[in-house]
Amino acid sequence: MSATSQLTPATEGAAPSVAGLEPVLDVDGVTLQYKTKEHLITATYRVSFKTYPADRFVILGPSGCGKSTLLKGVAGYLDPVEGEMRLKGKVINEPGPDRCMVFQEFDQLLPWKTVMGNITFALMNGGKCKTQIEAKELASEYIHKVKLDRFEDTYPHMLSGGMKQRVAIARAMAMEPDVLLMDEPFAALDALTRRQMQEELLQLWDDTRFTVIFVTHSIEEAVIVGSRILIMSPHPGQVKAELNAHHHTHDDVDGADFRALQSRIHDMIFADRVLEEETQPQHV
Ligand code: ADP
Ligand code: MG
Repeated sequence: MSATSQLTPATEGAAPSVAGLEPVLDVDGVTLQYKTKEHLITATYRVSFKTYPADRFVILGPSGCGKSTLLKGVAGYLDPVEGEMRLKGKVINEPGPDRCMVFQEFDQLLPWKTVMGNITFALMNGGKCKTQIEAKELASEYIHKVKLDRFEDTYPHMLSGGMKQRVAIARAMAMEPDVLLMDEPFAALDALTRRQMQEELLQLWDDTRFTVIFVTHSIEEAVIVGSRILIMSPHPGQVKAELNAHHHTHDDVDGADFRALQSRIHDMIFADRVLEEETQPQHV
């Protein structure tokens, strides 16, 4: 597998254009803040990027750099104090079924509904399906895609963490949103299951070519899952660079190319911090 990856320096408002394609999502100079009684926290500062159809767009950065906040903004839960986000040209100002989210937590399913029930409930309430028959048919299709056919009538508490995440993915995908939002969906899984889920996600993507924004703090996961990687630096979260990642697999992980790419990304994320530390006054 080739490790030739192209690093594109982050230029304000100027994501690399993809010839002939309109972006699905256009995040344009977005600053997001939280106001608490005592503090004003700037979570992201003038973040810009464009996501194109069938991108596996990864947002990568250390904990606290505003990745989840950015997804909340895209999902329509948080309005920018500066800048704008547009989905297919329309300004995002509220949540909608055109954006579906998968979270890290295993408790995102309704415990009193079966696997099938969880998905049909979303399909009916999200306005995707008009009848239960239609909803069941569509749900079955996606349950099959995540290989849970035998568990249609099972309740979430009987499922493993990985299986619960598969249900959450099937539920979000069944809505056939314009963009699937995934916030560290595999972070709470054990290493082997995590790896398996990453591979399954890539297979699903090969199958359907959906557009996904995938948030992670793991460089390895970003390189394996992403076709494009947005690298963010912390405090407040800002775009450091965009990387067009060629497809790497788990088989590459121990290779020199993969490791070199990982350490290059690591250096980019933490470059400022290293500088800050180096310029701290020395106490003797
Ligand atoms: P990440 O997902 O990259 O770990 P977050 O988006 O969760 O980062 O958080 C970004 C920053 O915003 C952090 O400094 C965090 O403490 C702060 N933050 C997140 N949620 C809230 C909130 N509800 N109220 C106040 N501050 C918050
Ligand atoms: Mg987060």
